[in-house]
Amino acid sequence: MRALCISDVHVSASRPEAVATLLELLHATERRLDTLFLLGDIFDQWLGDDDETTPYPEVESALKAVADSGVRISAHHGNHDFLLGADFAARIGAEVIEEQEVLDLDGTRTLLLHGDSLCTDDREYQAYRAHTRAPANQAAFLALTFAEREAQARALRQSSAERKQLKSDDIMDVNDEAVRRALDAAQADRMIHGHTHRPAVHRIEGKTPARERIVLGDWYQGTGQVALLEDGNVSLIAAHAAIEHLTRR
Ligand code: MN
Repeated sequence: MRALCISDVHVSASRPEAVATLLELLHATERRLDTLFLLGDIFDQWLGDDDETTPYPEVESALKAVADSGVRISAHHGNHDFLLGADFAARIGAEVIEEQEVLDLDGTRTLLLHGDSLCTDDREYQAYRAHTRAPANQAAFLALTFAEREAQARALRQSSAERKQLKSDDIMDVNDEAVRRALDAAQADRMIHGHTHRPAVHRIEGKTPARERIVLGDWYQGTGQVALLEDGNVSLIAAHAAIEHLTRR
């Protein structure tokens, strides 16, 4: 099978280069993948399925074209776009994944998730996450007008940016024990996630053969590291290399 995992594009009008590369990449995946995994934070902010902030409609159209071409799209919630809901899913023809999914990918049980749930050292964030994922809180937020939701999000981003500067690097990364527990619970040998913006392929010791943790990269510099799964192998490559690979004759 052939699949592509991308995350942390953080699509916004302030990142035209990343958006252009994303649109090019999405176009390149049409008819050329079995599954496209969007592993969260594709959108820098998602205030509800009525969010039509530029350039979201353009990205949605590109995603719909991918789905219409026969590619399955699995759209995970990130910590920036965890309000992606049923209307969004129906519009583009995707499945929305709230927490994680486990799939047999060419014989390797693979756990796919955004990754923020693994950052258990950051207790303050985990408390915030639990609060914002509670259905009653989401319903209350979505009942506000779009302008009200925008104002709340703006205030939150500001205080979050202030708090982040006070946190050590380690506390923002995944917790190794949380990684092992998640793999054990899913009986998976491989994990692919984003969120930490630290692209790498990690070997996880403790089992033979060693299990793997593949971390995707963010697109803040215009392009990110994506994971291409092909015939049982995973390669972590730049988005431009993925475009080239997919469109090669
Ligand atoms: Mn994230």
